[in-house]
Amino acid sequence: MAAKIIDGKRIAAAVREEIRTRAAALTERSGIVPGLAVVIVGENPASQVYVRNKKRACEEAGFYSVVIEMPGDTPQNALLDKIEELTEDPKIHGILVQLPLPPQIDERAVIAAIPPDKDVDAFHPENVGRMMLGEPRFLPCTPAGIMKMLELEGIPVEGKDCVVIGRSNIVGKPMAMLLMQANGTVTVCHSRTKNTEEIARRADILVCAVGRAGFLTADMVKEGAVVIDVGMNRNAEGKLCGDVDFEAVSQKASYITPVPGGVGVMTITMLLENTLRAAESHETVH
Ligand code: NAP
Repeated sequence: MAAKIIDGKRIAAAVREEIRTRAAALTERSGIVPGLAVVIVGENPASQVYVRNKKRACEEAGFYSVVIEMPGDTPQNALLDKIEELTEDPKIHGILVQLPLPPQIDERAVIAAIPPDKDVDAFHPENVGRMMLGEPRFLPCTPAGIMKMLELEGIPVEGKDCVVIGRSNIVGKPMAMLLMQANGTVTVCHSRTKNTEEIARRADILVCAVGRAGFLTADMVKEGAVVIDVGMNRNAEGKLCGDVDFEAVSQKASYITPVPGGVGVMTITMLLENTLRAAESHETVH
């Protein structure tokens, strides 16, 4: 039987509508307009698209947003100075530095320079630690968006065998943590895993975050599994596609996310959620 397609666009639209309403109420109550600053260094075309989408999403939600474009040869100190300036700007509640950064800049130093209460990507070690402890300030956007999709589709995680393929700091590791915190039994596969295919076939919930088009084939999927495709790749024709062989896998899975229109739109939605929460917390402080 063909899988139900999890419509990320529809789910995101509903969540964004709630965010818009909450933001308007915050502004009405306290005059605070949630503000996001996105810093982009260099001219990576994919990054430029992501940044444009984030800015548009902010505007649609009624947020204030600024995009700061810095040249590709920007020295690290200049970027750190910019972060400091944004840190002190009361109109800015969230600061995001678009990754990857050019080689002369140490990504870790930049992430550490963003104050944890404005770190709406949730990459700062303090926020990573809080998430690990189950006391999050912000959740990392991609895994949080996936958890939200599962919740709103009514897909239970508790007691399920969950397999995450990929162990990056921004997707695989936090995804595994959130599934575990939702009482799933989690296995993580990576490039050194010996039997990824066999492990994947055991999954009730299978999250693929490898970054290779066509990586997840139908023979790696159990009949009736829930398949979440995080990948964002370009195929030979330059078209955006995920990691999953969608045509074949959708004949076996019970639920599947498409690319585009799946995880990506939810990621930006959770960025809005984090920015709004940062702004709301400001209201209680002052
Ligand atoms: P990444 O840092 O390159 O990590 C890829 C992971 O895949 C690594 O952990 C790697 O293992 C693992 N891997 C590579 N080959 C494998 C194999 N043959 N078998 C099993 N595991 C293998 O990538 P990422 O940042 O997590 O992103 C993954 C994909 O998601 C990319 O396409 C990216 O564009 C996309 N993405 C999408 C969103 C969204 O909003 N939709 C957000 C973020 C990322 P090792 O650790 O051993 O190298």
